[in-house]
Amino acid sequence: PAVIVAIDGPSGTGKSSTSKAVAAQLGLSYLDTGAQYRAITWWMVTNGIDTDDAQAVAAAADKPEILSGTAPENPTITVDGVDVAAPIRTQEVTSKVSAVSAVPEVRARITELQRAIAASAVTGIVVEGRDIGTTVLPDADLKIFLTASAEARAARRSGELKDADVKATREALIKRDAADSTRKTSPLAKADDAVEVDTTDLTLQQVIECVVSLVEE
Ligand code: C5P
Repeated sequence: PAVIVAIDGPSGTGKSSTSKAVAAQLGLSYLDTGAQYRAITWWMVTNGIDTDDAQAVAAAADKPEILSGTAPENPTITVDGVDVAAPIRTQEVTSKVSAVSAVPEVRARITELQRAIAASAVTGIVVEGRDIGTTVLPDADLKIFLTASAEARAARRSGELKDADVKATREALIKRDAADSTRKTSPLAKADDAVEVDTTDLTLQQVIECVVSLVEE
């Protein structure tokens, strides 16, 4: 039977790197659900929809066609056939994605895509996000909730930037996590049956080994 692994947590905890490596090591598919929310946000921005207008966002939620490639070595994302891997990472999209993701019609649309992708994974799939263990795939075989201190998360996100940039990154991260954690529909949350892994003092390799051993248990 296919193995379903849900990996949730805030940004900067190493979720993507961990999820991709675990999927590759175990021969599973991989889905980055944050990329899907970024893709629909990119489409809204590109089509001139005011992302603070929840009604306008809801009315357009079904319009873009979003396709995710699930090979862990080469995950892809397209919107209406356009490769959006780079434009979904811009500051503009990052600053608007929480508002778009909070719209229930957007979550319903994206959740449906996610469940269909998980159901069609032959050997299984590692799905990373914010609400996978709680809402999207509540029957997952293994649920992981990754955490790390705000300092560690900001430092990982900003790489080699100057102190001032780390501070700005930290503030933006905290703001986005707060918005993601307090929205009414499927907020960022640890499922009751998830295993919490604090990555603050662990290397990426240690986190990967920890998750692989939990899958193999
Ligand atoms: O993981 P990433 O930082 O790319 O996610 C971008 C945003 O997408 C999050 O800040 C959150 O607003 C939204 N998201 C979500 N539910 C998920 C995954 C991401 O609401 N399962």
